[in-house]
Amino acid sequence: MAIQHNIAIYAIHTNLDNVKNGVNHQIALRLGLNQTRILQPKSATLSKLQTYVPHAQVKQVLDALFNVGAGKIGNYSHCSFRVNGEGTFKALEGANPFVGQMGEVHTEAEAKVEVVFPSYLRHKLVQTLFEVHPYEEVAYDIFSLVNENQEIGSGLIGQLERAMEPTEFLAMLKEKMELSSIRYTEVSGKKIERVAVCGGAGSFLLKQAIASGADAFVSADFKYHEFFDAENRLMIADIGHYESEKFTKSLIYELILKKFPTFAILLSKTNTNPVNYYS
Ligand SMILES: [Zn+2]
Repeated sequence: MAIQHNIAIYAIHTNLDNVKNGVNHQIALRLGLNQTRILQPKSATLSKLQTYVPHAQVKQVLDALFNVGAGKIGNYSHCSFRVNGEGTFKALEGANPFVGQMGEVHTEAEAKVEVVFPSYLRHKLVQTLFEVHPYEEVAYDIFSLVNENQEIGSGLIGQLERAMEPTEFLAMLKEKMELSSIRYTEVSGKKIERVAVCGGAGSFLLKQAIASGADAFVSADFKYHEFFDAENRLMIADIGHYESEKFTKSLIYELILKKFPTFAILLSKTNTNPVNYYS
């Protein structure tokens, strides 16, 4: 029906769960968490490009690669590494060399340049390299990295402005997330300062939250037996699946508003939560 009426549908759920500025970021904003980072970063989503460039062209090549998204690590852009060395080549029949004589082995002072990039950018990056590199035959290597990607993964962890008593934290959580009730585990002799969050069903991250030194883990869909696993090391605060994700639409709203200022945006007022609370 949507296709017949020229309506585009863009459905996002778990992909929005797994980006740094997605569902969990929205919860962190509400709770005022600082110094946030991904609780369980995804690995093997990054690659490295290594290429060999004559000195005079290093800047133009690097700038072009940065422009299409290479060289971003955390809050840093323009990240690269280079070493100087010598490249050799002999232009054979049919070649049209940028430097050197046909049929003679040529030695050129070059820099080996390295940049990291998200693997999905690979084709764009190689295409850009070919466009901007002066050589007819561009020498380059691409490696798949097993490194963790700080920008993608499950859950988020951050710090509250100040440490709070557990009851004060629960009251703040109830107010900021507009909740009617919270299922939680008791913690004794502990203040809440470091908080892990995961919108939706997040009990699979409990071990990670404990290992990261969280004092509280705000998520949803914990089963009875899973609450026991907190073992007084942190407070599990189960705020409900729908409740943990309900502010995500304002994130999408703001994104569309920023990217397409001429769009008229209408937020649905329909509440799709099938869970009701009777008290
Ligand atoms: Zn969900």
